[in-house]
Amino acid sequence: MEGNYMKIGSYTPGTDGAEPVIEREYFQQGYIVKDEEAYLNYPDKVCYVPELFDEGYTRQDFLDMCYGQEEMADMLFEMVDWQSPETLQNELFDMQEIDFCPVCKKLYFMAGEQRPCPVCGTNPEEVEDADTESECRPAEPGGL
Ligand SMILES: [Zn+2]
Repeated sequence: MEGNYMKIGSYTPGTDGAEPVIEREYFQQGYIVKDEEAYLNYPDKVCYVPELFDEGYTRQDFLDMCYGQEEMADMLFEMVDWQSPETLQNELFDMQEIDFCPVCKKLYFMAGEQRPCPVCGTNPEEVEDADTESECRPAEPGGL
């Protein structure tokens, strides 16, 4: 399978406390490092470096960001093309591509429109509403 992986630029970890060597290449929207082989086969190796920061991301970083959900991590890795994965994930929340279920503690796909969690049926929007409403307690039933 050699040579079938996408590889943009390269990241060489520094040894003995030396700085890593980052060689970015242009890809879609910016100069980055993106190494599919590292992502798929070496969870501890840096597989992505965004354009503006020298911080390297590993597959484990992507997974941590996605609560260990592989398909979410895979999607993030596939989509990042200049920004940090965190920025991309926030964009996906804003575009209603994904949402987070506070009950299942999992991310799920929304495909552009507000929808409840496919697992437990909770709508995160309504959960937020319920929190505000619970602060208004009904008046104590009075009477002599
Ligand atoms: Zn849920």
